Amino acid sequence: MASNIKVENNPAFSRIPPWVKAKLRPIAIEKIQQVYDWVETECIPAERIYKAQLQADRWKTPAIIHELRKKAKAQGLFNLFLPNHFEESPGLTNLEYSCCAEIMGRVYWAAQTMNCHAPETGNIELLAKYCTPEQKKRWLYPLMNGDMSSAYSMTEPDVASSDATNIGIKMKIIDKEVIIDGRKLYGNCQYNDEMQLFILMGCSDPNNPNSWNRHTMLVVPTGTPGLRQVRNLTIMGYDWAPEGHGEYIYEKVRVPIENIILGPGRAFEIAQGRLGPGRIHHCMRLIGQAERAFELALVRCVEPRKKPRGKLIGEFDSNIERIADMRMTIDGMRLIVLNAADTMDLQGNKAGRYAIAQSKIMVPNALLKVIDEAMQMYGEQGLTQHTPLPELWTYARFVRVADGPDSAHRHQVGRDQMKTAAGFRKRAEEYTRRYQELCKKWGLEPEEFWGIV
Ligand SMILES: Cc1cc2nc3c(=O)[nH]c(=O)nc-3n(C[C@H](O)[C@H](O)[C@H](O)COP(=O)(O)OP(=O)(O)OC[C@H]3O[C@@H](n4cnc5c(N)ncnc54)[C@H](O)[C@@H]3O)c2cc1C
Repeated sequence: MASNIKVENNPAFSRIPPWVKAKLRPIAIEKIQQVYDWVETECIPAERIYKAQLQADRWKTPAIIHELRKKAKAQGLFNLFLPNHFEESPGLTNLEYSCCAEIMGRVYWAAQTMNCHAPETGNIELLAKYCTPEQKKRWLYPLMNGDMSSAYSMTEPDVASSDATNIGIKMKIIDKEVIIDGRKLYGNCQYNDEMQLFILMGCSDPNNPNSWNRHTMLVVPTGTPGLRQVRNLTIMGYDWAPEGHGEYIYEKVRVPIENIILGPGRAFEIAQGRLGPGRIHHCMRLIGQAERAFELALVRCVEPRKKPRGKLIGEFDSNIERIADMRMTIDGMRLIVLNAADTMDLQGNKAGRYAIAQSKIMVPNALLKVIDEAMQMYGEQGLTQHTPLPELWTYARFVRVADGPDSAHRHQVGRDQMKTAAGFRKRAEEYTRRYQELCKKWGLEPEEFWGIV
């Protein structure tokens, strides 16, 4: 059935490129409009309310979030991220959801009100993809319903975790139990009592000759004896309450073998499946954040109280050029991410590997600069809690590291590209051979061409 919503001259769709608009199905048009209305009317005006409520208790989810989550669920705005090839999906493709994710990014907690925030998105997708029906009942459906939240726990302080074959936390599988010992960094805080389970990656078969089969993924409920949170980790000085990022110690933590996902030694199969879409979601939300920063810069450009040398901030040529650069950067980055989402839809996450890496590497770097310029144009207030700019900037900075540092992705892209070098070399030799033939024909002495003889 066609949608009654007009897409042209509609602010909810104004930043969506024509080739994407042409692909949106009626269900997506409806959802994008709903998400837009939701963020504009329910989230942006409530930013200060959220902060004020959080001040009262740093590790309790603010009452306004509970209220908004109830309303969003009733409006069919929950779990939009889960792509339509899952039976539990509300029905959007990766490309269609990306348009929603950008709008959610305009307020950094808006995705939470729609159960579309990290790490829930990755965890829900993982559980939907790899769990048995029994496991789904215990963990997937309560998470999708918003009855609890979860953490993803891979990173460790004692190894280079960007290469996950190094992950060393010990998992001993004995009879009907797994016994876990070691340390972990990150994964949301269990100070917040809504956080009820960790999806933990550990090493269960260290002597396996195949390093990709040594690791296992399983669920550890919070409050399991022997599991202790040492502290909350601040990220660039922020505590990121009420979710936070924990530092954890596991001492003889026992969980039943039924908590293993997919099977012992199969963690890498799962990890590969988990990360593609999550990276794209981070990037799309970041584009929404950069749009917000851009708009704040424009607001400042015409602020009548701010007139250095008698001119509005936006009357200086240097700032007009800055605004142009910011606009073009955001629009360019959006194309990159939407292309990655479309590639995943058309060819699968594995085939989309390059496009996903391209987003993960380019988008946070480029948008950091955009948000930084917005702060600069805003002046002193841009660095304070009077604007969301410091949080937007910090988020962009941490996306450079979270879900794998950009250097590691660049290394992978570069290595793949190097594999094409021999083919180009062969082609260059062909050009040279043909050139030598032409020289002979036209009576010329061949010169060295491209350093090839
Ligand atoms: C805000 C935030 C949230 C996070 N949330 C989670 C979470 O929920 N769960 C979780 O498990 N982890 C989480 N992480 C951790 C994150 O996934 C890891 O930091 C990341 O995987 C890198 O691991 P590492 O820090 O051990 O870096 P290392 O592997 O020690 O690498 C350190 C540095 O070495 C360089 N490097 C690494 N590989 C290469 C390469 N191939 N080529 C060139 N240089 C390279 C890079 O500069 C890299 O930053 C989070 C991190 C942040 C900042």
